Amino acid sequence: MTHESPLHHEPRTRPGSVVVVGAGQGGQQTAASLRERGYQGRITLISAEDTLPYERPPLSKAYLKGEADESQLWLRPVTYYGRKGIDLVGGTVTAIDRGARTVRLADGSHYDYDHLVLATGARARTLDVPGASLRGVHTLRTARDAAALRASLAGARRAVVVGAGFIGLEFASVARESGCEVTVVEARERPLARVVSERTAAHFTRLHRAAGTRLLYGRDVAALHGNSLGAVSAVELADGQRLPADLVLAGVGATPCTELAAAAGLRVGGGITVDTRLLTGDPHISAVGDCAAFPHVRSGSLLRLESVQNAVGHARLVAERLTGEPRAYDETPWFWSDQFSTTLQIAGLDEGHDAAVVLGEDADGFSVLLFGGTTLLAVESVNRPGDHLAARQLLARDVELSPDEVAAEGFSLRDRLVRR
Ligand SMILES: Cc1cc2nc3c(=O)[nH]c(=O)nc-3n(C[C@H](O)[C@H](O)[C@H](O)COP(=O)(O)OP(=O)(O)OC[C@H]3O[C@@H](n4cnc5c(N)ncnc54)[C@H](O)[C@@H]3O)c2cc1C
Repeated sequence: MTHESPLHHEPRTRPGSVVVVGAGQGGQQTAASLRERGYQGRITLISAEDTLPYERPPLSKAYLKGEADESQLWLRPVTYYGRKGIDLVGGTVTAIDRGARTVRLADGSHYDYDHLVLATGARARTLDVPGASLRGVHTLRTARDAAALRASLAGARRAVVVGAGFIGLEFASVARESGCEVTVVEARERPLARVVSERTAAHFTRLHRAAGTRLLYGRDVAALHGNSLGAVSAVELADGQRLPADLVLAGVGATPCTELAAAAGLRVGGGITVDTRLLTGDPHISAVGDCAAFPHVRSGSLLRLESVQNAVGHARLVAERLTGEPRAYDETPWFWSDQFSTTLQIAGLDEGHDAAVVLGEDADGFSVLLFGGTTLLAVESVNRPGDHLAARQLLARDVELSPDEVAAEGFSLRDRLVRR
């Protein structure tokens, strides 16, 4: 096993040094899991953000609504890091010297490592149209972004959301609930096009329209216009239509932060390329979370996911490897989104379904089971947490299920799990 890392085959008590670049969900969890597993070497957790490590999901939910303040987003209280002997360092890593096994920060300081974990995450894409830097035009990735957006929303009357992905729609629901007029502009013909089936997308279209939000699909933004004070005042679409706006949110996706890895000569392509153990081509460097492109256990194709579960799962796996228990990453992906009082939960990964069966539809919700042939690929559950939990377990255990079995009268995912 000497091909793994320099640490994993050594006694877990032997001091060494792990440096983690990025203190988001993945970086923080790597450090925490190393300590939980008894790693006694030095852990340095380097953060480019000037706050304690925090979770991002509430930024487009409770925090935006004013139901949580910033300290409630922290993954751990400040005392945790001292208690666990995790050196939390503020600063941006600008270079990796792989020969010397050192990282250098923008302020000139450097940290040596036996193992380096890249947890650099992703950054929000911005709009590539004239006027994109006007005041009142926002992206939503960091706590700082969320604070600016929350302040802007408090005084906004008309919001335009560009992009009907999860972040765009979550913001749209909060903005609408706060009394703002909301228009969502989406280039594709439906919302959540990359991430959910047509059936589930149609449900969210109805939900937002019922709340009074205007949804414009198949429309591109051409320019943003401002007033004499430099604040956004309108969004111009490619067909010439102008939408008045005093707040614009660009919810057009995120780009993985791979520059550091690329400059160090590591393979990147849609993410930092890692193997099933989440190791880069350098046995002393791993990558986790949103920045990592890893082989999908079923297809072998490279996959990059943006979810808490993925970042946490990756982090735990790397900590296990570095403390002597290597394994391949094969966790079933899952995700959730809250919009109005609706919770969507997705288990598995739809790599291209050819059959969809709707289960248990009632006034509150339903689940959609997506099949590729007779293989269950993913389950989308709207307000059906029991289905979601059962689906996660059925998918993790590769339980055989066919569309015909699921469509039969009285079928229940929970019963099927018990009968397995
Ligand atoms: C608004 C919002 C809502 C979300 N909602 C959900 C949800 O409901 N459910 C869900 O599962 N997921 C959700 N996500 C996604 C989830 O939060 C991310 O997948 C997760 O945070 C990824 O963790 P990470 O550690 O890989 O990256 P990040 O959390 O992005 O952390 C990366 C950190 O690395 C730092 N960094 C980058 N480069 C350097 C450098 N050179 N030096 C030092 N530091 C560096 C960055 O500044 C950042 O702090 C949401 C994300 C956002 C933005």
